[in-house]
Amino acid sequence: MRSNPSEYEMVAPGSLHAIVSLLAKEPGVWLPIAGGTDVMVQYAAGKLPARRLVSIWNLPELRHIEVTAEEIRIGAACTYTDLRKHEIVGSEFPLLQSAARWTGGVANQNRGTIGGNIVNASPAADSLPALLVYGSELILVSVRGERRLPYASFHTGYKKTLLATDELLQAVCLPRRFSGYFTHARKVGARNAQAISKVCIAALGRMVDGVVEDVRIALGSVAPVPLRLTETEQTVRGKAIDSELLLLARKAVAAEIRPIDDIRSTARYRAVVAGNLAAEFLNRLRSQRTGAERVGVQDVLARWNRLPIDEAMRAILPCCGSQAWTQRIVARRPFMDEAALVVASDETWRNLTRSDWMEAFHSHPRIGESRASQSLPGQSPPAQSVAWSDREQRSVEGADADTKIALADANREYERRFNRIFIVCATGKSAPEILESLRRRLKNDAETELHEAAEQQRQITEIRLRKWLQG
Ligand SMILES: Cc1cc2nc3c(=O)[nH]c(=O)nc-3n(C[C@H](O)[C@H](O)[C@H](O)COP(=O)(O)OP(=O)(O)OC[C@H]3O[C@@H](n4cnc5c(N)ncnc54)[C@H](O)[C@@H]3O)c2cc1C
Repeated sequence: MRSNPSEYEMVAPGSLHAIVSLLAKEPGVWLPIAGGTDVMVQYAAGKLPARRLVSIWNLPELRHIEVTAEEIRIGAACTYTDLRKHEIVGSEFPLLQSAARWTGGVANQNRGTIGGNIVNASPAADSLPALLVYGSELILVSVRGERRLPYASFHTGYKKTLLATDELLQAVCLPRRFSGYFTHARKVGARNAQAISKVCIAALGRMVDGVVEDVRIALGSVAPVPLRLTETEQTVRGKAIDSELLLLARKAVAAEIRPIDDIRSTARYRAVVAGNLAAEFLNRLRSQRTGAERVGVQDVLARWNRLPIDEAMRAILPCCGSQAWTQRIVARRPFMDEAALVVASDETWRNLTRSDWMEAFHSHPRIGESRASQSLPGQSPPAQSVAWSDREQRSVEGADADTKIALADANREYERRFNRIFIVCATGKSAPEILESLRRRLKNDAETELHEAAEQQRQITEIRLRKWLQG
C-alpha cells in the first residue's frame, strides 16, 4: 500500500441532494467513490490525486432500475450483480448482461458499478461497447439540475469525459427497441473473468430477405475511447453477407480503429483480432435462424422445459458432458429462448469445479478418433455425443497422412504434458488449423491451458446446444 490513510478523508452524506451540494460547494475537491474497485486500485498504488472522497455507495436514488414502456433507466450505482439478476436486462439487453457477467470475479461484480465503469472512462471497459450499440443516454445531475446527453458523446479522449466537477452521473437509459435483433458479444483477453480485455466487441444486427437491414458494432481497447464502427456499419448495411463483403468489412474496421501497444497486447494483434471479431459477428448474423426455424427451436425448448428432471437431464447431457452442468441447467428451467439458455450455460460452466470440467473434457474422443478415450469405466458418452464428435472432427478425417501423423504425435505430447486429451472446438477449423492451435497450446503453462481448454469446451457446448434445439 503506497498511500497513507491519515492523509485521506471520506464522508458519506447519505442523500443525493447532500452529495451534489458538497460537490457544488467545493468543485473538484471531492471525488465520488461508488464500489471503489477502480478508486482503491489507484489508492493502493499511491496514484489517487484526490484526498477527499464522498461515498455514493448504495445511495437509494442511484441504486434502482426503472422500466417504462420506452426505456430502461439504470441507476449509476447499480452493480454488475444487480444487472445480471435483472429480468429485463437479461431478456432485452443481453450484451450488457454478458459484459456484467465477465467483468472481474463475483466479488468485483458485487461492488463494481455501471456508473463507475462509465466515469472511469477506460477504453478497455467491458460494458461500454454495449452501451454504445444500444444507443444509450446518460443523465448527469448537479445542484444546477439534470442534463441528458447521448453516451456516445460522453468520452472525449483517453480517460476524459464531459462530466463537470460539480456533477454526478445519475443514470444510464437504454431504449427498448432492440429486442428483435441478433446480438453478439465477445471478450478477448487472457481469460474472460478477472482479466482486462485485449479487445472486446458488442454488436447488434438484423437481416431481412438475406440482406443486412440494420447493424450496430462497437469495440473496446482499439482506440482512446470505446469505439462505434459507423463506417464499417455503413459498408455492410443493405448488402448480402458473402466473402467479398467480409473482406470489405475487415478493411473498414482496420481503417476506423486506432489500436496501440501496451502491457496487455500489441497494436498489430489488436488490429487482427478486431477484424476477426467483426467477421465472426457478420458470419453469425448471416447464419441466424429464419422465423420458421426459430419456431422449431422454441418448440423443442418448450417441450424440454416440461420434461421430468431425469429425462431433461438425459436429453441435454451430450451438449456438455458434465453431470454438474447438466443438473444445474435443468434446475434453472424454464428458459424463454435459445439466448437465455446459452447465457445460463456459459455462466454455469464458468462456475463449475475443475473436476467437473475434466468430466466434460473426458467425454470427447481424442482429435482424429471417434471414441472418448478417457471416459470412466461404465460411463461411455451418449450416442448423440459420439455422433456430434464425428461431425465436428470431419475435417481431420479428410486430412492428408502427414497432418494426421503430426496430429497424433502432438496429441501424445499434449497428453504427457497435461495429463488429459486436447480439447478444441473443431467446428469450422481445418486439420492444419487444429494442428497449429495444438502446437501453440503445448507452450502454455498448466493454468493458462486449463482455462483455454475450458473456453474451447464452452464453445463446443454452445454449438451443440444450438444444434440440439434444432431437433
Ligand atoms: C479485480 C478487478 C477486476 C476488474 N475487472 C474488470 C473487467 O473485467 N472489466 C472492466 O470493465 N472493469 C474491470 N475492473 C474495473 C472496475 O471494477 C470497473 O470499472 C467498475 O465498474 C468500477 O465501478 P466502481 O463502482 O467500483 O467505481 P469506483 O472505483 O468507485 O469509481 C471509479 C471512477 O468513477 C467515478 N464515479 C463512480 N461513480 C460515479 C458517479 N455515479 N458519478 C460520477 N462519478 C462516479 C469515481 O469518482 C472514480 O473516478 C476490475 C477491477 C478490479 C479491481
